[in-house]
Amino acid sequence: QSKKSGRDTFQFYDRMMSEGSLMDLTLLEEMRVGLEHNQFFLEYQPQFELTSGKLTGLEALVRWNHPRLGRVPPGRFIALAEESGLIGSLGNWVLEEVCRQGRQWRDNGHAPVLLAINVSQRQFSDANLVERVRKTLSANGIEPGYLELEITESLLAENPEMAVARLSDMRAMGVKLAIDDFGTGYSSLSALRRLPLTRLKIDRTFIQNVASDSGDQGIVRAIVSLGRELGLTVIAEGVETAAQKEFLLHSGCECGQGYLLGMPMGAEEIERLLSGGLRSQIHEIAS
Ligand code: C2E
Ligand code: MG
Ligand code: MG
Ligand code: MG
Repeated sequence: QSKKSGRDTFQFYDRMMSEGSLMDLTLLEEMRVGLEHNQFFLEYQPQFELTSGKLTGLEALVRWNHPRLGRVPPGRFIALAEESGLIGSLGNWVLEEVCRQGRQWRDNGHAPVLLAINVSQRQFSDANLVERVRKTLSANGIEPGYLELEITESLLAENPEMAVARLSDMRAMGVKLAIDDFGTGYSSLSALRRLPLTRLKIDRTFIQNVASDSGDQGIVRAIVSLGRELGLTVIAEGVETAAQKEFLLHSGCECGQGYLLGMPMGAEEIERLLSGGLRSQIHEIAS
């Protein structure tokens, strides 16, 4: 394992050097340092049931507060972390931080809420992931049913047998499994059916023009009925307008996430949301 990851790292550096991507190499080194120096933090974006406006989950989104560059968005560093293998340590940190925060909210008297984290393909190739999740949950007294892992269809591309086995172990533990950015990958419906999923997240590119584009309307309706057939809940990403929300409601899409409903927020702001401080605002949106 460590021999292999050493080799991977070497090949990665080798390629980076020959391509002259010194900027990325610098960023990678800074990411390593940043992880040690607590420069990373999480924001949480609320997910709501569309009919009731009820909070159903929180998606953790990693942020990097770079000492010189300021806030670096994940789009800028996640791919690099994946390529270099650093996603292993970053992902472990995310898992631990989410569980620590979830525990703290509960210690502060709030009802448990579903916590969703993004897990990249590379993290799934780590044979210890299942045990790590189990231990981290139990160390923080969080029931597995309150954790959801968001994976993408690309997980199936490289080693589908391994992916199915790993996901089944997670599911057997009680952890929930969502397909993120659904509809953008290449997985066949038969491959999808073999996965022990609990939820589909409709990619936001289909939501963007769903209020006016009949093609996107067809896709969203198809995903909603696919979810129903497979017994999965469906959530729309990137809900930004009331018209999009209306369409989703009428199509039977159960849940939504997006700037209209709630921005990604820091842990303190989420705590106000959990306390009911923002409930009326949400209700107004939902009704
Ligand atoms: P994602 O998992 O699909 O997360 C949703 C992204 O859409 C987030 O971007 C979120 O801020 C953004 N978003 C939410 N609502 C709206 C909306 O209404 N309109 C628009 N235009 N965007 C919206 P963010 O935080 O920049 O994250 C980007 C991607 O980085 C994530 O996409 C995910 O793939 C990855 N990522 C974030 N955190 C982690 C992490 O902890 N681990 C891993 N492996 N990947 C992560
Ligand atoms: Mg996600
Ligand atoms: Mg997504
Ligand atoms: Mg996305």
